Amino acid sequence: MAIFAEGMTCRICERPLMNGQSVRAFSPFVANEADSLSFFSDAVFHEECFCRHPLSGDAESRYKIVLDRYKPANRVCAVCNQLISDPDNVFSLGHLTSDETHALHRYNYAHFHRPWIGQWPQLAQVAEFAAAQMESGAWRGSGMQITADALRTAMIDRETSQ
Ligand SMILES: [Zn+2]
Ligand SMILES: [Zn+2]
Repeated sequence: MAIFAEGMTCRICERPLMNGQSVRAFSPFVANEADSLSFFSDAVFHEECFCRHPLSGDAESRYKIVLDRYKPANRVCAVCNQLISDPDNVFSLGHLTSDETHALHRYNYAHFHRPWIGQWPQLAQVAEFAAAQMESGAWRGSGMQITADALRTAMIDRETSQ
């Protein structure tokens, strides 16, 4: 969580946030550095600066979705449909694509019991997609690399266990 503290600077105007000013604070909610909304990730803003930004509405709606999808009560495994109670046992896909017509859009923020991901019927498709996104630069940053690597490893594990 981005914690607001006096002396932090607004990412838009780069001036300090002062006590008593209305502020907006965002936790690191966009892992993809190539995503235009990554500007808002892990950052604080003056309320006024934030509201004037052309992407503030998009940032607000994405942030709301992320907070909702990562609530413990919403961490349901996409393979077995059970609630994932152990936070160390969860693998989450994060934001795959903003394209609502894309076949994988419905798997944005999908969660899995780690050992179960190999059983997921869409694994090959998503692993391929992730590799192509990294390759084209549509996904950038260590968070996206971790996701792409985890999917590739799960694919290899599945192939070798068959
Ligand atoms: Zn500002
Ligand atoms: Zn499961």
